[in-house]
Amino acid sequence: MDTEYHPATQSIGQPHLDPRCAIEIAPRIWWVGCYLDGDPFQCHAYLIEDGDQSVLLDPGSILTFAETRRKIELVLPFSSIRYFICHHPDPDIVSAISLFQDQITREDACVVTHWRAAALLKHYGWKMDFWLIEKHDWTLQLPHHTLQFVFTPYLHFPGAFCTFDSASGILFSSDIFGGFTSGFNLVASSEDYFESLRPFHEHYLPSREILQHGLNEIQRYPVRMIAPQHGSIIPENMVGFMIDKLKTLDCGLLTSARDGIDVLRLSRLNQVLRDITQVVILYRDLSDIIAALLDVIRRILPEARSLELWTDDQEGEWLRFSEHSHFRPTPDGKPSLAREMLGREGREWDQRYPKGYALVELDEQGEQADALLIALRNERNQTVNGLAILHFTGKPALTLEVDAIVRQITRPLQITIERELLYQSLERDKKRYYQQSIRDPLTGLFTRLYMDDAAKRLIAMHARNHEAGFGLVIFDVDRFKEINDQHGHLGGDDVLRNIARIIAAESRSVDIPVRFGGEEFAVFLAGGTETDGASFAERVCKEVGKLRFDGRLAQVRVTTSGGLAQHRPGEELDDLIERADQALYDAKRTGRNRIVIAGK
Ligand code: GH3
Ligand code: MG
Ligand code: MG
Repeated sequence: MDTEYHPATQSIGQPHLDPRCAIEIAPRIWWVGCYLDGDPFQCHAYLIEDGDQSVLLDPGSILTFAETRRKIELVLPFSSIRYFICHHPDPDIVSAISLFQDQITREDACVVTHWRAAALLKHYGWKMDFWLIEKHDWTLQLPHHTLQFVFTPYLHFPGAFCTFDSASGILFSSDIFGGFTSGFNLVASSEDYFESLRPFHEHYLPSREILQHGLNEIQRYPVRMIAPQHGSIIPENMVGFMIDKLKTLDCGLLTSARDGIDVLRLSRLNQVLRDITQVVILYRDLSDIIAALLDVIRRILPEARSLELWTDDQEGEWLRFSEHSHFRPTPDGKPSLAREMLGREGREWDQRYPKGYALVELDEQGEQADALLIALRNERNQTVNGLAILHFTGKPALTLEVDAIVRQITRPLQITIERELLYQSLERDKKRYYQQSIRDPLTGLFTRLYMDDAAKRLIAMHARNHEAGFGLVIFDVDRFKEINDQHGHLGGDDVLRNIARIIAAESRSVDIPVRFGGEEFAVFLAGGTETDGASFAERVCKEVGKLRFDGRLAQVRVTTSGGLAQHRPGEELDDLIERADQALYDAKRTGRNRIVIAGK
């Protein structure tokens, strides 16, 4: 121990905390731990000063005993300690008792713990009595403190518990909220402390259900500070954050560990695997998904260069989604090496690639490069109906992580690609339904739905530019009922189709011919004058009059009448139709087979 001066005690608010001091973390509550250089498990012992009923929490180990003993004496006489709380039986927190007990003189000194820990601790041959928390209603009443014991079973030990001091609001949390810290960081300075805490817990907490049970128990108390036995103390402003964040932690990583992978690697891998799932949930666009997945994969496999997908379009074609085509599907033959595998049963693939994936050399524009082939299978019949190809810039090492990534990525990719195909077919359907909704199935002319839209645009254009006038002709077939009566409805349909053909043929591409009603047609004549409109309508009339049919309809002669109205600037569609209709009525009234022009 160096001889230079240092203060004996400090309080937690001071800027530079010195591990050689006893540090007061709340009024008369002390950190009396021992800093072990280079030890990631910085073990913290705490002292609650309460006269001759004082309490030492998690007393420490044989390595830390002397320093803790020294610090206690800086605060109070050792004989003031009556209670030794042991939150669990790990040697780093309890083995100091073997040395302490030789110095304990008082008869009433006792070890406060849960029966499950006491059953093991008695094997140290301690002489002190056990004070079992479950036999004392989970509460220890001191002169100035009420300690409540929070049962958090299996969070680091079957009989694990924490201690809450209501006077200070401190939760002595034992291993929970503990972290790996290399230096002396008694107080967490930012929420980043969670990253030291994460591997500590991901490593061995058995399951999220158990963790959440423990955390829910803790949240029943008004915790203002968390004093864990390892790592850093969590101050009030971070308590809520740490509890909430810990609730979402993936637990039980050790159960998935093989090949002696270390905790930090496991934790990093776990984060990658989580992010893979997140990516697929978060993004909708295939190119975004692939780009984000690549980013995540590169954290473990920096050699990963690009990722492409192949799938069966269910019509016998293989589609390729790659960055070359901006992830638009391109029919592209099968990738050479997997040619014979696509479409086969999964077990054939398994025989050839027992791991489910294969590192192969692919020929790319004349160059050999390493790539990982991952089979994507149809869930129902297990056929290999897709392929993911991860291209590399160098030769990647096929570590345990790669194995885990492949297993994690396969299903999301399968779902992504199925979703992509579905989106595309929906897109196609949408286009088809749109076409159907704007085209009349009998005549192929536009429907009124489309007419409303198009007429709005014509009216708006006319409002902006008075030169951009337009006309509307409404045709109504003359005495069409008779045709139906004599030749049947199907015969009538045939006639309507032929009239529509004439109307379409006489219209220019900018005009909008519409099936307006049963045997009524409307044509919006864009840009033309009234004279243009009249001559168009006359031509239609004439051509309809010349229509001749074969077979059953050989006798049919058909004519049509029409009303033309030229759009007035600012006129509503309904008013324009009304005027064209009136003209049509006049044409009917004055003999049919003629065109009448509405008054201006
Ligand atoms: P007018 O010269 O006064 O117009 O006499 P009209 O017989 O044509 O009388 P009106 O316009 O009232 O009758 C239209 C008929 O067209 C009635 C209806 O049965 C028939 N019709 C409507 N839609 C269709 C269709 O899609 N197919 C067939 N075949 N007939 C239709
Ligand atoms: Mg009619
Ligand atoms: Mg008619």
